[in-house]
Amino acid sequence: MSEQTRVDGYFGEFGGSFVPPELQEVMDYLSEQFYHFKDDPDFNEELQYYLKEYVGRENPLTYVDRLTKEWGGAKIYLKREDLNHTGAHKINNVVGQILLAKRMGAKRVIAETGAGQHGVATATACAMFDMECIIYMGAEDTRRQALNVFRMELLGATVVPVEAGQGRLKDAVDAALGDLVENYSNTFYLLGSAVGPHPFPTMVKHFQSIISEESKRQILEKEGRLPDAVIACVGGGSNAIGAFAHYIDEPSVRLIGVEPDQAPSLTEGVPSILHGFKCLVLLDEEGNPKPTYSIAAGLDYPGIGPEHSHLKVSGRAEYVTISNEEVLAAFQELSRTEGIIPALESAHAVAYAKKLAPTMSQDEIIIVNLSGRGDKDVEQVFKMLK
Ligand SMILES: *Cc1c(COP(=O)(O)O)cnc(C)c1O
Repeated sequence: MSEQTRVDGYFGEFGGSFVPPELQEVMDYLSEQFYHFKDDPDFNEELQYYLKEYVGRENPLTYVDRLTKEWGGAKIYLKREDLNHTGAHKINNVVGQILLAKRMGAKRVIAETGAGQHGVATATACAMFDMECIIYMGAEDTRRQALNVFRMELLGATVVPVEAGQGRLKDAVDAALGDLVENYSNTFYLLGSAVGPHPFPTMVKHFQSIISEESKRQILEKEGRLPDAVIACVGGGSNAIGAFAHYIDEPSVRLIGVEPDQAPSLTEGVPSILHGFKCLVLLDEEGNPKPTYSIAAGLDYPGIGPEHSHLKVSGRAEYVTISNEEVLAAFQELSRTEGIIPALESAHAVAYAKKLAPTMSQDEIIIVNLSGRGDKDVEQVFKMLK
């Protein structure tokens, strides 16, 4: 990591920290602690222990032969984040940040959640580490995701419905930040994606980089060479940045992020400040963040992590969009041909691989990051198809 990133968290013109002074002090302290512990041997030994024993890493890099033959081009490998405890990549970051919270002496963990996936991952790890857990969730979202609210409560968390604003994710973030400013001496804010003020994007990338650390080792073992492309879906950008991290300095590897065509932050966004950092944001005519709609709740965010904004502008990574129809087709095709039901978010990456693979030769390789499993989405897909 460059000295520049360490000091102020910029990726080109993106990132930084645009927060009130009282919050900046909290962010400065968090940065200092993160940079200290990330290289601490005891901390890393403890992290490795929980990633293995609790999350279930390392997870496989699975070659999918039937899908490869059906598509008739590049060899397809899936990085199986769907096999982690709780069924997605989010737990990698949650375990890392909770261990940091413990080292910092925090007694309370707070988090924001939209559809509930990050809230459930946070509540899960808080149960195991015996931490008090408060989840802020827009009131509207608590009604739409009642089952996830119950899951978090089962796990011992307190879910606070936020009535302010439109009762959505943005309002939950504001409430969590307000709590942090008031209670910073005993409270850790566990952010769920590679977004927010510095050091969050850098910290979330650090904990998610395990994805590409493993996949690079695994593909070298299996194929004796690097992949030609790595494909991941992009919401805030955490699974994608984790899947890309160890390939960014390998120019032969194409890095491709996939967005829903109804939330194309990277393909249509403009530089702006959102939630305390600068990134590409989708704005409406009045210059306000545009409401987005995705069939995959985890991809429903008008902004995008600062490093992806920079990778896009610098040309190192490519970002593409996929339609709902293509996502639904990929969801069914992976289920039918390989017996793997993907999360609707992950099905975006699968759908783009389906377009790309036939344009490549049979000795080329694509790694698709399967960010999560689709059990949570089966009922929704059932309703959409009937
Ligand atoms: C939350 C989620 C995402 C989107 O979040 P990122 O930070 O962009 O990774 C993608 N896939 C799954 C399965 C998720 O739960």
